[in-house]
Amino acid sequence: MATASSCGTSVPRGLVVLGSTGSIGRSTLDVVQRHSGRFAVVALTANRDWSRLLEQVRAFRPQHAVLVDATAAAQLAAAVRAEGLPTEVHAGAAALAEVAALPAADSVMAAIVGAAGLLPTLAAARAGKRVLLANKEALVMSGRLLMEAVATHGATLLPIDSEHNAIFQCLPQGGVGGPAAGREAPGVRRLLLTASGGPFLRRPANTLANVTPDEACKHPKWSMGRKISVDSATLMNKGLELIEAHWLFGLPPARIDIVVHPESIVHSLVEYVDGSVLAQLGAPDMRTPIAQALAWPERIESGVASLDLTAVARLNFEAPDEVRFPALRLARAAAEAGGTAPAMLNAANEIAVAAFLGGALNFPGISAVIEDVLNALAVTPAVTLEQVVAADAAARRVAVEHVVARTGMARQTLEEMVAC
Ligand code: NDP
Repeated sequence: MATASSCGTSVPRGLVVLGSTGSIGRSTLDVVQRHSGRFAVVALTANRDWSRLLEQVRAFRPQHAVLVDATAAAQLAAAVRAEGLPTEVHAGAAALAEVAALPAADSVMAAIVGAAGLLPTLAAARAGKRVLLANKEALVMSGRLLMEAVATHGATLLPIDSEHNAIFQCLPQGGVGGPAAGREAPGVRRLLLTASGGPFLRRPANTLANVTPDEACKHPKWSMGRKISVDSATLMNKGLELIEAHWLFGLPPARIDIVVHPESIVHSLVEYVDGSVLAQLGAPDMRTPIAQALAWPERIESGVASLDLTAVARLNFEAPDEVRFPALRLARAAAEAGGTAPAMLNAANEIAVAAFLGGALNFPGISAVIEDVLNALAVTPAVTLEQVVAADAAARRVAVEHVVARTGMARQTLEEMVAC
């Protein structure tokens, strides 16, 4: 939405896209370019994909571009200079938090994958921005801190994850106190998060040890980055979303249920105490929740085709199998334990998924390593960012030890693979 200026004309809404080269980042820019004049891209960021970021800089001409990797940043800076583009290029992780708090930015799309998104997302909340939250790991790690930062600094948290965006749309005004304020809306009995079931929903359990990273990343319904694709295959994604929903909507984990829905048309549901169940439906395309959050409370075109229910014909629902997919059980236990448990779960998962994607660990090994880590470390009630960061680091160290023990791989090779 363009914001109204004092003279009654509208000015474009300043937008920072953290993780602009990724799947969510590209879908965000796809929606933005459909609405010229409505948004002004202030900053774009990535880890090291400088050539894709250069294409985006050419198209959107942001004031700032950030690459965490210094070599990649130097390559981008040289290209930007050579082409006479008006963009300042910055290197290093600290610049992510700086651009997330720029005064020219009204909204920040938090679409970095993994724990690397935590500090920039917190910086955006502390600067009172509209935070469009795709980076669920930030909320899983430090839900209390992030929700407190949102409340203290008058930020607005708009969920991008399709399930949470669906719940947001099914709650009155998105929940008590506005969008995703972390307080339970009156009259809600429970939340139902839908799960596609991932690529291995029907795969016999005794063959899961043989699945390849490419098979795990071939999601039947959604096109996503590789880490979240593996999380979908293990069902850890749904576990992380359970923790995310707990923080966003203020319900205890016991009142958040998971239902497998392979068609991915119903994106989630809210059940009220009178028996009413409200659902949000749509084609499985992230541009819908992205457009909903970019324009909220207005509605804008997203480029997503109309839903043809007669073509879909059937919607199926079934209970998740927590024996074949133990990640869901582990995540629920971490949600119930609270404190540093979700941060440790998330860190162990990031290491185990990276080891799987690198070919070091087999698919069932992902959940096994996470369980090893959670059994090895004591949970403390996290109150500070330092405690969360320390729990994250400890869980990464222990996860590496357990991957080494399970695979016999050299520690240094593994550490390079998971870049910890
Ligand atoms: P991708 O892997 O496609 O993109 C990740 C983005 O983050 C890229 O821009 C990448 O830069 C950047 N990045 C990676 N590592 C770092 C780092 N250490 N520091 C700074 N930037 C980094 O991920 P997705 O877009 O799929 O997912 C992004 C987030 O959104 C995740 O938290 C995911 O769970 C969530 N999400 C994604 C959905 C989807 O449909 N994809 C749906 C719902 C939620 P580079 O390209 O240079 O590596």
